[in-house]
Amino acid sequence: MQSSSGSKKKKIWLSPSGLSLLSRCPRCFWLQYRRGIRQPEGIQSRLANRFDGVIKAYFDTYRGGDVLPPLVAGQVEGKLEHPFQETYFYHHDDDYGLMGKLDECLVRADGTFTPVDHKTASSDPRTRDLLPAYQTQLDIYAFLLGSNRKKPSGIGHLIYFYPADGADLHEGFQMEVIVKTLDTSTDAAHEKFMEGVAALEGEMPFAADNCPFCLWYDAMTALLEK
Ligand code: SF4
Repeated sequence: MQSSSGSKKKKIWLSPSGLSLLSRCPRCFWLQYRRGIRQPEGIQSRLANRFDGVIKAYFDTYRGGDVLPPLVAGQVEGKLEHPFQETYFYHHDDDYGLMGKLDECLVRADGTFTPVDHKTASSDPRTRDLLPAYQTQLDIYAFLLGSNRKKPSGIGHLIYFYPADGADLHEGFQMEVIVKTLDTSTDAAHEKFMEGVAALEGEMPFAADNCPFCLWYDAMTALLEK
C-alpha cells in the first residue's frame, strides 16, 4: 500500500506487549505505532532481565535430555522443545503482522505445543488476580505457534519466580516457583490482533482517563496557562 506521500507504508508488527497497551489506553497504543511516540520509560530496574537470562540458561541445560528441569518437573507436561524456536511471526497482510518471543515451549507426546512464559514476581501470585495481559500473551503465543504449523495444546504455562522468606539467607536466597496453567484461545488472540489493526486504521482514539502521565500533562498545562 502507498501512503499519501507516495512512499511505501512500513509494515507494522504488533506484539503481545503492544496489544496489552491497547487495553490500557487506545491513544497511547495508536501514538506508539502510528507516530512512534512512547511513554517515557523512567528509571527502571534491569533485575527482571537478569532473572530471565539466568532462568533461560538453567532450562537450556536440560534441553535435549529426557528429564524436565527439577524446578518444574511434575507440574508441566512434555519435553522442552529442541531446538527451541524463540521468535514467531504471523503475516496478516502487507501492512500488518503479529510477532512474539516465547520464553520456553513444551512439546507433548501427542505432538502439540505448549507456550511458556517466565514471570518474576515480588510475592506469591496465588494471592492476586491474574493480569488480563498475561492471558492475552499466552493466547497470542498459541496463535503464533498454530500459524507456524505447530499445533497448540490448548494450554499455556506462566512460571512465576519470587523470593522466599528465610532465616538462612546467608546460605543463599531461595526462590519459590509457582506454575499457573491457563487455557489458551487462538480465536481470542486473533480477535485482539484485529482490534489492534482496526484501532490503527482509524483516527487517534480516546485516552484512558486515569493515566498518571496524561493527568500530569493536563495539570502542568493548566498551571502554565494561568
Ligand atoms: S492517558 Fe495519555 S499518557 Fe496515558 S497511556 Fe493514554 S495517551 Fe498515554
